[in-house]
Amino acid sequence: MADILPGLPHTDTDPSLDLHWSAHALELALQADYATSPNPMVGAVVLDSSGTLVGEGFHHRAGDPHAEQQALTAAGDRALGGTLYVNLEPCASHRSPSCADAIIDAGLRRVVISMLDPDQRVRGAGIAKLRAAGIDTVVGIHEERALRLNEFYVKHRLTGRPFVSAKFAMSLDGKIATRSGESRWITSEESRLHGHRLRHIHDAILVGVNTVMVDDPQLTTRLEGVAAARQPLRVVVDSQLRLRMSARVVGPNTLIAATRAGRMGAAEVVKFPATTDGRVALQPLLDELGRRGILSLLVEGGSTVHASFVSEGLVDKIYAYVAPSLIGGREAPSPLGGTGVEHLAEAVRLRELDATRLGADLLITGYVDVHRDS
Ligand code: ZN
Repeated sequence: MADILPGLPHTDTDPSLDLHWSAHALELALQADYATSPNPMVGAVVLDSSGTLVGEGFHHRAGDPHAEQQALTAAGDRALGGTLYVNLEPCASHRSPSCADAIIDAGLRRVVISMLDPDQRVRGAGIAKLRAAGIDTVVGIHEERALRLNEFYVKHRLTGRPFVSAKFAMSLDGKIATRSGESRWITSEESRLHGHRLRHIHDAILVGVNTVMVDDPQLTTRLEGVAAARQPLRVVVDSQLRLRMSARVVGPNTLIAATRAGRMGAAEVVKFPATTDGRVALQPLLDELGRRGILSLLVEGGSTVHASFVSEGLVDKIYAYVAPSLIGGREAPSPLGGTGVEHLAEAVRLRELDATRLGADLLITGYVDVHRDS
């Protein structure tokens, strides 16, 4: 890509230029670092009619100008006859003026879009508007990367529920604690820092009441070098409201999911339907989080909560931090409690497995295969 520099003339038929500038729009989008929720992360680039970069921008956070508006403002009159690259379909009508209108008004000749906007207020309406105005509109350049970048947003807009990540830390022999219940710390400092990064990118964190009773976590995000880390909504599943008022998680920005009404200091108690065994029904809980504009949920355990989410098919992605240690013991717990599956054919399968070194540990990630036969 070294030969592709701003200022070089381009033609409509040079696919490497489209790949280059679409990738640049994706990089711009990521600069928002997940702060745009409940909006998507979007970056936009404007080239003038000779192919020179004349404007760029990204959506910073909900309420701020859209990426396309920023790039067009920066380009001014130089956008006339030019090309706009954007990683998500421009909005068509739900704000005024919409980005599609702004692109048409700016007199752009060509628009290159990575993916359709799954939001039902758009879903092709932006592209239709551009094409109706005679703008050459290309869709699908770097689509996989664009979908991955906004996977939280896509899941939320398609299902009304947050994208669910499940995270656990274990020894190489699959134990999350010793037989006496000691679990601090199985994994390294590097893994724990990465865990805070995970909290930062998610809109909400969820733990079961047992985890709160044992560890008394604060469930806040601490990031070095980031003055104001995003603080996700803290969700505690506590069917019978056993939580103590003195627990550190009880406070503002906490939702306690219970099966009965009650009060718990500054935390909000929300009553949900119960399962047959008296636990909070997780699907209505996810629906409620989705209604509140929560795009992503990080489930941090414990093993009963993880097992419930996995067995109900509610997890989208697994983050397993694996330490190079062996704990052993029939009584030592593993990441998933519950009853588990009876047959191997019913095991939940992961796809797109990835492994990264974090200090002495390995971080293994994978997407839960929704097409499993069970
Ligand atoms: Zn827009």
